[in-house]
Amino acid sequence: MTNKLVYFIGNWKMFGDFGSYKIINKINQYAHRSKNLKKRIIFCIPSTLIYFFNKKIRSKFISLGAQNCHYHSNFGPFTGSINAPMLKKAGAKYIILGHSENRLEGETNKLIKKKIISTLNQKLNVIFCIGETLKEKRNKKTYSVLRKQIKDSLDKKFNFNKIILAYEPVWSIGSNKIPKINELKNIITFIKMEFKKEFKTKKNPKILYGGSVNPKNISTFSSISNLDGFLIGGSSQSSKKFIDIIKNYYK
Ligand code: PEP
Repeated sequence: MTNKLVYFIGNWKMFGDFGSYKIINKINQYAHRSKNLKKRIIFCIPSTLIYFFNKKIRSKFISLGAQNCHYHSNFGPFTGSINAPMLKKAGAKYIILGHSENRLEGETNKLIKKKIISTLNQKLNVIFCIGETLKEKRNKKTYSVLRKQIKDSLDKKFNFNKIILAYEPVWSIGSNKIPKINELKNIITFIKMEFKKEFKTKKNPKILYGGSVNPKNISTFSSISNLDGFLIGGSSQSSKKFIDIIKNYYK
């Protein structure tokens, strides 16, 4: 069994209502029972639920986060938007930024950078998603896409203790397809190297894998020693699946 800290982060996307705290409650009970496993559990839920869940769950084993924010730090004329200070007040400790579902709606690396700055200014943690599309993969552009996403959205002045990278190939999200383990190992190594080279740091960034992780395929990832955890979409909407992912990872 690995002794390193492993992140299991749920991304609920547009899922859940007030009653759904019961899912996290069950996971909280499991987290308590398995506290000998060196893991960190975080649930990034719809912003409308953060305050309520925080009051309801009061867990020292599970933190809550949001899934996006506006880059502006003050109140302002941005209809429909929520900023990092508002999410912090609601109880978020993490914010997912750069998710491909938002990139698809037009989020650019430059805009994501502004959001990262605003999130870090609030001393919140960033889960920064990067990943190539199927077309980019087929055109052998994976490495150059990742390099650009890292270079254009991060800055050496950032507090890297507050940033977790999540490698999420777009073609694997919700598709039941996962990368070949050797390919994934090489990509994780590349991201770590690129990060250190670009920002002239010796610090190893934390890197998660995300894309169709489920209780059946999780054990295949256990052999990747430089992976720091998982960003889990669909399978995080069920307490059983999420708990089984953790159990099977440590089997
Ligand atoms: C995600 O949306 O971040 C994700 C990884 O989704 P899924 O696990 O459903 O592929």
